[in-house]
Amino acid sequence: MTDQIRYACAIPILILFTNLSVVDAQSRVMRKGDRQNNRPNIIIFLVDDMGWQETSVPFHRVSTKLNQRYHTPAMERLAREGTKYTHAYSSAVCSPTRISIISGMNAARHGVTNWTLRQGVSPDDQLDGIDPPPWNLNGATTEPGYPRTVQITPLPEILHQSGYRTIHVGKAHYGASGTPGADPRHFGFDVNVAGHAAGAPGSYYGQKNFSNGRDLIWDVPGLERWHGQRINLTEVLTIEAIAQIEESVAIGKPFFLNLSHYAVHSPWEEDSRFYQKYLDQGLEPMEALRASMIESMDDSLGRVLTALDRLSIERKTLVIFASDNGAPHAVPANLPLRGQKLAPYEGGIRIPFIIRWPGRMRADATDDSNVIIEDIFPTILEAAGIDWKTKPLQDVDGRNLVDKSRGHEPRNLVFHFPHQYFKQGPFSALIRGRWKFVHHYAEDRDELFDLALDLSERKDLSKGQKALTMKLARILGLELKRMKAMVPVRRMTGQRLPLPGH
Ligand code: CA
Repeated sequence: MTDQIRYACAIPILILFTNLSVVDAQSRVMRKGDRQNNRPNIIIFLVDDMGWQETSVPFHRVSTKLNQRYHTPAMERLAREGTKYTHAYSSAVCSPTRISIISGMNAARHGVTNWTLRQGVSPDDQLDGIDPPPWNLNGATTEPGYPRTVQITPLPEILHQSGYRTIHVGKAHYGASGTPGADPRHFGFDVNVAGHAAGAPGSYYGQKNFSNGRDLIWDVPGLERWHGQRINLTEVLTIEAIAQIEESVAIGKPFFLNLSHYAVHSPWEEDSRFYQKYLDQGLEPMEALRASMIESMDDSLGRVLTALDRLSIERKTLVIFASDNGAPHAVPANLPLRGQKLAPYEGGIRIPFIIRWPGRMRADATDDSNVIIEDIFPTILEAAGIDWKTKPLQDVDGRNLVDKSRGHEPRNLVFHFPHQYFKQGPFSALIRGRWKFVHHYAEDRDELFDLALDLSERKDLSKGQKALTMKLARILGLELKRMKAMVPVRRMTGQRLPLPGH
């Protein structure tokens, strides 16, 4: 090749490269612009105390007795149009899960490890010789220096700063009464309907003003216009939430709606719209009452999904459905799972979980990988196209569930409850692949279960498989150390109990 030909060839190539880089820069700008315009609306539809089997959607390999009892057609629709997670986990009690959702932190890291209500007051029961650690009994805050709180950069605040209209409707339970975190607006919600410090409503009934008439701390705030009416709280929150969606669409802003139902937590008050139907099916009154609360919640989901259709935003709205812990002791056990709310067993921590995002996540799909409630935080921020990793104060433990490159390497899911409460002693637990390891602090006792073969956790394998038990104990101990988890202490000496495997 002569120099002349070489030169002649080089010029078009140079021009081509120059043009390519211009095109590339333009498309980068366009992509950024597209992201701004096409940012999805985001809805978290969070149910309180709903067990893994309290739905007609089978999350188990087979349809169970409870799947056949309950009627949740809207959940069925969501599962058909989205991805159903069969191995999804939360903390075993309310506040820890809720702080994990807005912080992305595991409960062992954020330290709000039991439920919160009154400032400076722990609900813990006494245990012989052992005290709980100085856990964050006042909940979360965004401000430094507030005693017994975890300081975070919360999810709604990041979304608000990125141009989202941020709406909280229903139960909050992020901070104790009298602390800044008692009001959801402290965490960056533009709008708060009915959320405050308490983790349950005084009553579900409008005719009782959503109050139990005795301890006013449980009164649902801000719903005065509904007082005296014959209407259920779950329906009221649905109407309020849909009005907020409509308002967001009218002003042309993407929205983040945290529709966090008080249902299906106690008090045990039937929803009269659905109760008789279940009595007629031959259920006992408490069973029918529970079924009516479940269907009431599902009716809410159905109305929200219909509203998205009506407003033609169903394809640009990401919907995440979750419960915050397992079913409580007062309602039928979620067989085949062992244990209920508060327990380290699957009945306490395995939850119904569905994500619908048309065009972005598979429809009518099942995902059996191990996922946990703090995954909601990065999943939402990534979906919103927010470059968030430099933003939070806190270390984020969750993972983005929409990430296609999400590997299948064994993941360590950590559960941490250093308390004695309602007959449940202090524990830490680890799920890694098919294995579940549980450490009970009070008795210094370990358990090992093979969830693939023994979902009901009937057979403790820790004595027969000592090497594996020790390996998992050490992994859990290291995870707890890494997250600076607070463990129970000996009352006489103030000394921390040893971490599992240490
Ligand atoms: Ca709960």
